[in-house]
Amino acid sequence: MSDTIASGANMTSLIKRGEGAGNVGLGTVPRPMPGPDEVLIEVYAVGICGTDLHIQDDEFPSLPPVVMGHEVTGRVVEAGPGAGDWLGKRVSPETYFYTCDTCSACKAGRRNLCPRRRSIGSHVDGGFASHVKVPQRNLHEVHDSVGEHAGALYEPLSCVAQCLCDPAVASPGDTALVVGPGAMGILSAQVLKAQGADVTLSGTPRDQQRLDIAASLGITAVLAADLGLATPDGGFDVVADASGDERGIDAGLRAVRKGGHYVQVGLTGKPIAVDIDLICLHELVVTSGFASTPRSWRRVEKLVAAGLVVLDPLVTDVAPLSRWQTSFGRTRKADGLKLMLDPRMDDA
Ligand SMILES: [Zn+2]
Ligand SMILES: [Zn+2]
Repeated sequence: MSDTIASGANMTSLIKRGEGAGNVGLGTVPRPMPGPDEVLIEVYAVGICGTDLHIQDDEFPSLPPVVMGHEVTGRVVEAGPGAGDWLGKRVSPETYFYTCDTCSACKAGRRNLCPRRRSIGSHVDGGFASHVKVPQRNLHEVHDSVGEHAGALYEPLSCVAQCLCDPAVASPGDTALVVGPGAMGILSAQVLKAQGADVTLSGTPRDQQRLDIAASLGITAVLAADLGLATPDGGFDVVADASGDERGIDAGLRAVRKGGHYVQVGLTGKPIAVDIDLICLHELVVTSGFASTPRSWRRVEKLVAAGLVVLDPLVTDVAPLSRWQTSFGRTRKADGLKLMLDPRMDDA
C-alpha cells in the first residue's frame, strides 16, 4: 500500500506541466510532508470535472507545474503538529489551500470570492496522485453510508449547495426544472427534491444513461424535445441550468414562470447569446453561486447523512491514473456520468 512509502519518496501524479493548451501528463513529484495544522491524505478517488478539462485546454487559470485534481476523497495517513485528531479518518477536503483571511470576502465567510484564493488542483498540488497535503481546517469527514470512491462527490455537491441552499431556492409544492443531467444536474435535482420541489430533469438523446440514473433516484427525467409537454401551465417555479450550454440556458430561461426563480449552476466557459430581456419582461429572480463555502459543506454533510442526496449511483467508472487520457476523453464526450481515478489501482 502506498501509505508505507517513506516520506520524501516520489509519487506518480497527473500534472499540468506548463502554460498553453495540453501540456498535461503523468510525472513524478516528491510526496509532500504535512506541516503544522496540515494532514496528508492517501487518495482513494478523485473526480474528473469540467474544470479539469478547462485546465487541460488552458481555459481555466492554473499555476503550472501543478498536480491537478480537486474533487478528492481518501484517508488521513499523516498529520502535522496540531492535526493529530484527523489521523485515520475518511475525509473530503474543501479546495482552498490558501485564502487571505483579511479581505472583505474572507471576513464575510465567503472564502470562495477571495481574490488571493489558491486552490488545490490548479494553483497548489492536488489529488491526482497517491497522496495530497491539505490544511486540517479544510477537512470534512465522509459519512459511513458513502462508498470510498463516491466521497469525491462531496466537493461538487458543495458547489451545488452554494447555488441552491442559502437561501433555499425552492419550497414544498414548487415545481422545478433542472437542465442538464451531468453530475451537477443530478445533484441539483436531488437538492431541489430535498427542498420539497416536484423536480423534472431534462437532457438530450446522448444523455440516456444519465437520465436513467436520475429516474432511478425518483426524478422525472425527460428529453429536451419533450420539455413542452412536461412544463406546467405558466412555467416552472424554479429552473436551474446545469448544462452550461447555450441552447440549454435559453430553454431554461423560457421555462421559468413569470416572477419565477432562475439559477445558473453550470459554466459555459465562453460568452454566449441568450435573450436577457426575458429576465426583465418576466421579472425573473436570477441567482448563482461560485465554488463552495464552509457553510455549503455543512449543508452537504446534513444532506448526505439524512439520505436526502445519494452519491454512489453517480459514479459510473473508476480507473487507474495511468488511464487518465481515456477517462478525460470520455468525460469530454459525456460518456458515463461521474468518472473517477483511483491512484491505488496503479499499484495493484
Ligand atoms: Zn469540480
Ligand atoms: Zn481573502
